[in-house]
Parts: sequence; structure tokens; C-alpha cells
Amino acid sequence: MNLSKSKYCNAFQCMKMLWLDTNKKEVRDDINNQSVLDNGTLVGEVAKNLFGPHINIEFNKDLSKMLEDTKKALTNKEAVITEASFSYKNNFCSVDILKKDDEDYEIYEVKSSTSLKDIYIEDLSYQVFVLLKLGYKIRKASLVHINPNYIRKGDLDLKKLFKIEDITSLVISNKDKVEKKILEINNYMENKEEPKEDIGLHCIKPYDCPFFKYCTRNLPSNNVFKISGMRSSQKFDLYKKNIYSYEDLLKSDINKKYKQQIEFELFNKEPFIDTKKIQEFLNTLTYPLYFLDFETYEQLVPEYDMIKPFMKIPFQYSLHFLEFDGAKLEHREFLASVNSDPRREIALSLVKNIPKDVCTLAYNMSFEKSVIKNLANLFPDLSEHLMNIHDNMKDLMVPFMKREYYTKDMQGSYSIKYVLPSLFPNEPSLDYHNLDLVHNGSEAMDFYQALKDLKGREYDKVKERLLRYCELDTYAMVKIYEKLKEECLVNNH
Ligand code: SF4
Repeated sequence: MNLSKSKYCNAFQCMKMLWLDTNKKEVRDDINNQSVLDNGTLVGEVAKNLFGPHINIEFNKDLSKMLEDTKKALTNKEAVITEASFSYKNNFCSVDILKKDDEDYEIYEVKSSTSLKDIYIEDLSYQVFVLLKLGYKIRKASLVHINPNYIRKGDLDLKKLFKIEDITSLVISNKDKVEKKILEINNYMENKEEPKEDIGLHCIKPYDCPFFKYCTRNLPSNNVFKISGMRSSQKFDLYKKNIYSYEDLLKSDINKKYKQQIEFELFNKEPFIDTKKIQEFLNTLTYPLYFLDFETYEQLVPEYDMIKPFMKIPFQYSLHFLEFDGAKLEHREFLASVNSDPRREIALSLVKNIPKDVCTLAYNMSFEKSVIKNLANLFPDLSEHLMNIHDNMKDLMVPFMKREYYTKDMQGSYSIKYVLPSLFPNEPSLDYHNLDLVHNGSEAMDFYQALKDLKGREYDKVKERLLRYCELDTYAMVKIYEKLKEECLVNNH
């Protein structure tokens, strides 16, 4: 079988994953997020400059062309080659960065994560195996990953953005292990029949497997993997003990909140609404009442000063507010212009639109609070006002998180994406599916980034869709708030 780094790593996680990917691709789920992919690609591109000028071997579907180009670059004694490609007996690999040092070589594998994972060691071991077999002397083999503590100040400092971990002796000592594994993979892939591999923690570690839905297709539709909030290790433990149907789980020794989810769904139970507790929560809110929601993106390679990898950068918010009980609902919104740092603009807009000392509601406020706190740290002149908004924030999620309001359709979750349709099942204006183009946070992130390349009507259209998506987030919060009030009113009479 023709192997590559990624195929080898897939097989390392689960042989069946590679078998299905080769023989039954149509049952694979698309679980990739575009902005995660884009960030990963950018990290790879930026890291190519880690050792200065270099020659890049362009990707070509015809791998022999890449091998040929690599050979030429090596003959020309290029000091740094990126994507240098090699093949030993059908085992192909492209090395992210290859550095020549006298007659020896250094190889670097770039990862867009902030720490080392065991699978990265396997990845590099495979490459080292291929190169050693071809007779190259490897002086150094290292993993390059993102330094999460790097804060950009001025020009991008690649030496600080990336951390280099030398694992030469470890990967060289893995040589025989890799050879054995390749043999094992080749034998396994001879299977004409679909192999019978049971599911386990390897289905989610190190990566979520895109065949999980397929491999669990024969389980009852209500099964342990649908239980919200339960640790994956506990789910797989129960599965291994053959306790996976809702009926069996109910008889088992699991936390009562999981049993509550099961009972509600299995017995079609009526909603549970503790109006006394909800009223206590509502009593903590005061008018004027603001409803706030941010959209953010993350950059692994910080584009602007004072940005760390993975920091949440706000680019948009929606704000509804009620001046007093029964007042007309008002709305403000903000979408940052593209191609510049959005943070100053958004901070100024926030302090303009949210007065000091008002109660601001967010859904899962830890997120909104962390965004505001970062802005306050960044802009001392706005800090007092921003921290006032931060300190007066309340969380609309609380009654649902505490299950003071619970319905079977929430399926154990208190995320607004479950809570909203369960409270308003027949309300098209509150259904995210009815939105055009942008239906969730990750799409908002992708389309905001896409704005950079759009002009004219296309730009206006995407901008409008982004605004409508975010508006629904806070409008939904208003409706949820009203629903809580309504329930209390009805039940207290
Ligand atoms: S779902 Fe699990 S068992 Fe099935 S292919 Fe993926 S990793 Fe293997």
C-alpha cells in the first residue's frame, strides 16, 4: 500500500480508519472546521521561514515530480528545503523543513498546536525511518509547535512564536518499531472484507474519527454517546461493559443528572420548571437590561500587536436592550471593518452603547467577560467603563445549567442551541436553520475572514448575513428571558 505521513498516523490511531478511508470513503463524515484548517495551513506557511531563505518543493498530485524536484534541490546543495519529498518502498513523506548541515540533515515537523502529542512523535518517527532507509544521516529531528505565551509586539518573531523540541534519539530509536508497523499496516490493508474493529477511546484520541457515526450505526439510536456532559472515558467504559442503551443505563450506577436526561427522553416527560428558583434568578436582574453577544476569531499566527496565539479576538457584537419593564425593544450592532485590528473599534463601540452601571445579560457569560477583560487590559483609557460592564454582567444560562428549567428536547444540554428550540419549537423567526449563509459561530468566523476578499454586492450580502446571525443570538436571549418571566407569572397565579 502507498503510505504517507497522514495515512501512517491514521493507521496508528486505528487501522480500520485507514481501511475505511481507502475502501469506503463515502461513509466518512466531514468533521473539519474551515477556520481550523486555514489556521493550520497558515502556521505551516509561516514556519517555512523559521530558518530564513529556503526553496519550497511545490505540491504536485504526481508525487514523482516532487521527488524529482527534491533531488534537484539536494544536488544544488540548498541549505533549507521545505516540503522536501522522499519515498522508500511506497512509503512517501514530505518533510516540513529539511536543513542541511555539512553531510548531515536536520528535519523539522511543524504542528499548529501548543503542546506535544504522542502522535506527533509517530509522525516524525515515520519520516526519520524513510530518510534513514534512503541512507540520509539525520543529525537532528525536531517538532515545531506554537508557543502559547508568545505575545506579538512589533514584527512577528518566529523564534519566539515557535517552540522547537528536539526528539532525535527517541525517533531514531523508533526505527524498527516503524518498520514493523508498516508491515502490519500492509497486511491489514490486504483485507477484502471490512475489518471488525470495536470502538474505544482511540475513536476520539488523538483525533475525532470521521467514521464514528458509521462504526456506531448499529447501536440503539438513544445510546450512551448521546449523554450530555459525561466524560468520554466513562462512556467507553460503560460501552465496554455492554451498558449503552438508555434502558440499561437507567439501571446502572451513573450520576442522577444523566439519569434525568434519560428519563425525560425515554418517558417523554413534561418540562420541569422550578418557578421559585427562576424567580429568584430574575430578581437579580435590573432595568435597564442589556443583552450582549460577541463573535470572535482566533489566530495562531498573531496578525496584530498584543495578540497571543488562540486568543479570542472580537470582531462583532449584537446588543438588544430594554430601558424599563415593558419598554420597546431596541437594538444596536457592530461589525468591525476587515483588514485592521478590530479591537479598538469594538471597545469604543461597546462603551458608547452600554452605559455604566446597567445590568448586561450574556448566555455563558464567562466567554463575554473574558473578551471584555482582554479589551480592558489592552485599552487603559476605556478600562474603567469596560470593567464596569464586566462586573455588572449576569448569566442567562444559569437557570438552564442548574436545570431549574428543563425539557426533554434539551437532551441534557444547556447550550442555547438546544435551549432555544426546546422553548420555541414552532417559531421560525428563532430558528437558526432559517438564516441564510451564517448559522453558527464557526461559520461567522469563516465568513468574516472571507469578507477580506469580497467587494461590492457580495461584500454587502455577507456583511448583512453576519449581522442577522449575531442579531438572532441576542434576540433569542430576549425571548428566553421573556419566557422565564412568563412561566413565573403563570405559575405564581
Ligand atoms: S470509529 Fe473508531 S473503530 Fe471506527 S474507524 Fe474510527 S477509530 Fe476505528
